[in-house]
Amino acid sequence: MKALNSTRRPAFLFGIVMWILSFVMAAFLIQLGASIIKDVPLSSDPIVYEDFIDTEKSADLRAKTDANRAGIVVAQRTIEDLKAKRTTARNEYQSARTAFNNWLKTRTATEAESQNPEVIKRTQQLDALNTLQRDAARKVEAASADLTTLERTSRDLRNQQSALRLAAQAPYDAAIRAQTLKTFLIRLAITLPLLLVSAWLILKQRQSAYWPLFRGFIFFSLFAFFVELVPYLPSYGGYLRSIVGIVLVGIAGKYIIAAMRRYLENKKQEESKTETERRKTITYETALKKMSANQCPSCDRKFATGKDQSNDFCVHCGFCLFDNCTSCDARDNSFHKFCGSCGSDKKHPTPEAA
Ligand SMILES: [Zn+2]
Ligand SMILES: [Zn+2]
Repeated sequence: MKALNSTRRPAFLFGIVMWILSFVMAAFLIQLGASIIKDVPLSSDPIVYEDFIDTEKSADLRAKTDANRAGIVVAQRTIEDLKAKRTTARNEYQSARTAFNNWLKTRTATEAESQNPEVIKRTQQLDALNTLQRDAARKVEAASADLTTLERTSRDLRNQQSALRLAAQAPYDAAIRAQTLKTFLIRLAITLPLLLVSAWLILKQRQSAYWPLFRGFIFFSLFAFFVELVPYLPSYGGYLRSIVGIVLVGIAGKYIIAAMRRYLENKKQEESKTETERRKTITYETALKKMSANQCPSCDRKFATGKDQSNDFCVHCGFCLFDNCTSCDARDNSFHKFCGSCGSDKKHPTPEAA
């Protein structure tokens, strides 16, 4: 004998419609929340690294760097020019010396004594050219030394500039941390009231006729929590997120364990009550649903396996599951209000009319 599902058809459809209502409610609330979040100034101007560099010093260094670079360009060109002059002077001296040597050889061959003053004159000319050549070489060396100094200064300036940038790191990090925290706190200030209201609704309004609407609000606040708040949680190196997760699981665990204990306690107390009292606490719908699942409506334990429902009483708590009609003696679910065989009123006083 199979217990029938007692839910009335419209009630079942109402249930589905109520769920749709909850989701639609949540969807609109989420949309509204998103619009509000968009208009609330959640974060100030983006933080720029450059803002934390000492601007005065940085500008000073940049001006020096620019001047130094210009100096280097000038020095490089000067060296180029001087090198060209040095080459010219060297070539002139070389060719003059070659000419002089050739002249000397011819003079030795002819042995003309009268040419002595000419030797002196030519030697003096050659010396002058040599001096010019050496001056040109010295100028190149001096200019190269200047360039080296400028290049060293350039390196120093670069180092100072990077030291200045490096000094900005700590205050920049601190500002980023402060901004992250501020953003999170603003979001928390918006989300926390929603969560508190939801918690109150869950704890106090579950039996309310408006529960489907409240359920929509709870979905909305959960969405707000996971989408608008959790991603903005400051990480502090990943510690905080893990700790928040642990705390949330802890709270959930505490409530679930407390609920389980309360349930077991209630069941134990119920089992010590009389059959009539126990019957009063069970609604018609719940009873029929549990009976069709072979579950004792009083102690919630299985009273039979498969289709075998031959026991009249629960083997765990002694609750009456099946009884016989007082008019026709047909065996039937003890919760049925009317006898399925003869249609007469059943003797068991069922507590609540659906
Ligand atoms: Zn039982
Ligand atoms: Zn009957």
